[in-house]
Amino acid sequence: MNDLTAVLARSWPIDDSDAVPHRPFQVFTQRDLERIEPLSRLPEAARFEMKVVSTVLPFRVNQYVVDELIDWRRVPDDPIYQLTFPQRGMLTEAHFERIAALYRRNADKAEIEAAANEIRHELNPHPADQMEMNMPRDAAGNRLEGIQHKYRETVLFFPSQGQTCHSYCTFCFRWAQFVGDKTLRIAASEARMLHGYLRDHTEVTDLLFTGGDPMVMKTRHLQGYFEPLLDPAFDHVQTIRIGTKALSFWPHRFLGAEDADELIELLARMVRAGKHVALMAHYNHWREMETPAARAAIRRIRETGAVIRAQGPLVAHINDDPAVWARMWKTQVSLGIVPYYFFVERDTGARNYFEVPLARAWQIYREAIQQVSGLARTARGPSMSASPGKVEVQGVAEVAGEKVFVLRFIQGRNPDWVQRPFFARYDDRATWLHQLKPAFGEAKWFWEDEYEAIREDKLLVAA
Ligand SMILES: *Cc1c(COP(=O)(O)O)cnc(C)c1O
Ligand code: SF4
Repeated sequence: MNDLTAVLARSWPIDDSDAVPHRPFQVFTQRDLERIEPLSRLPEAARFEMKVVSTVLPFRVNQYVVDELIDWRRVPDDPIYQLTFPQRGMLTEAHFERIAALYRRNADKAEIEAAANEIRHELNPHPADQMEMNMPRDAAGNRLEGIQHKYRETVLFFPSQGQTCHSYCTFCFRWAQFVGDKTLRIAASEARMLHGYLRDHTEVTDLLFTGGDPMVMKTRHLQGYFEPLLDPAFDHVQTIRIGTKALSFWPHRFLGAEDADELIELLARMVRAGKHVALMAHYNHWREMETPAARAAIRRIRETGAVIRAQGPLVAHINDDPAVWARMWKTQVSLGIVPYYFFVERDTGARNYFEVPLARAWQIYREAIQQVSGLARTARGPSMSASPGKVEVQGVAEVAGEKVFVLRFIQGRNPDWVQRPFFARYDDRATWLHQLKPAFGEAKWFWEDEYEAIREDKLLVAA
């Protein structure tokens, strides 16, 4: 057979999951720092810094990330190393010193943990009013934990089994959920509650499973959430999205993991039954898509008819360079992935280390978009997921003699706010919406009174 007939003779659907050797999932946390082989080549002081920082901020990495994604010759500048390994600059000098001093005098575990907890509470663990404002109640007034309903058509669900990830991102805005403080956790215990809520809310077209990473769940748990949605009572729920970084951190979840075949079959079954299934893949760098396992996983998911959309934040030390974004979007399009959101990193955790001013974010977005074809220009941004909604920086302009940011809502608590241009005074250092002021000397944003009313009533969306 020549090459072409060999290709045509291959069974359909293509299943080359066996072409990538399987590896067992092996995870490392703060307790295992000494067991991560390449770290032993770093200076002792660097390892101590890592231990201090990871006492406060969550740390978790796995052997696949260590072996295949990080280029250890380029450490500490390597972007995937910055993405997964704690760095000294992620804590303020005072916070760092406080924990370091405790270790130096061999303080006991409880004292160290208490200090770490206090520091965490100073790091804005729940940005954008996540706990307070978005949690719906049932008819009896009980909070429905694990559900967020902020935008009319989309419900977010945090399955309790999915509140961790295969590895942690150092900049994670969900970091508070990973550090073991139960009072900071948002999680659901029951599929029944989710299905009950959706049955009553026929305005909801999109259900977004998020976490953590729902793909850390066993396939049988996913089945318990997904399969009931095939009942006609849920015909209004057209789209099932799954937010995940497993394609980057653990692509074997879709290949040789023990229940990978069942997962692939589940996705295919949902698609065949008429649902739009979308994996909202979190990507920060094109390097995450270069390994044979990553590519095989992408092919296998696309075979099911599920769509992969890509989103991720702009983060200093990792991807604050238009060339990185242009190459990432081109790689995604070549692999059949649809670029979706270009986020501004949230104002939480180690934000001083990671933040990029909005003016620079817009420049990076623009320079990157200019380098790619129309198919890669589907990434919207820079977008801030703030409490009133998703606000995009459309650009910098001069209007009536004043230098301004042109902004718009991509999503709003009131759908009527969406797509109305509005203006902020230009500020080259601002990194988030709350640092911006309305332009032209105006006292308020056009949406401000309505937003305050929604906030006071603890309404979820405009009445
Ligand atoms: C981004 C987001 C969504 C989804 O919005 P789309 O514009 O439909 O992608 C839903 N809920 C919350 C809270 C979000 O931040
Ligand atoms: S994959 Fe998402 S939820 Fe998990 S650590 Fe990274 S940013 Fe946080």
